[in-house]
Amino acid sequence: MIPSSRYNTRMTHTHTVRLTTKGEGDIRDLTPEVARAAEASGIQNGIAAVFVVGSTAAVTTIEFEPGLVEDLGRTLEQLAPRDAHHAHEARWHDDNGHSHIRASIIGPTVCVPVANGSLALGTWQQVVLCEFDTRPRERTVIVQVVGD
Ligand code: ZN
Repeated sequence: MIPSSRYNTRMTHTHTVRLTTKGEGDIRDLTPEVARAAEASGIQNGIAAVFVVGSTAAVTTIEFEPGLVEDLGRTLEQLAPRDAHHAHEARWHDDNGHSHIRASIIGPTVCVPVANGSLALGTWQQVVLCEFDTRPRERTVIVQVVGD
């Protein structure tokens, strides 16, 4: 029997996106960058993992239009109100306890399948970075494409 590793053509391609956000509520479309990373990788079938570094921002998918951006912001304010008591703020004397909670709820990663060389996203589904911190931040988003 021939070891399957002989046929292993797996590749990994890492692409880094840096951007400056405007602070809390800034939602940015990453789809063109993720698509560019997938294309540049040459990978035909695999996954693109999109990860934001830091604990006060998140990555998800959304239909990226102003109505939903507003709705998401309002819903997160209900789930994790800015003015609630946060032990984090009492401990560190900062103002972003709700930012950390929102980032944890949404999460830092989205994995998009790459099928036949393109992202398997819906027409109205964009990959977005959500800034939850209370001030503008320099963000690093890592797009790692793994596959054959
Ligand atoms: Zn903090």
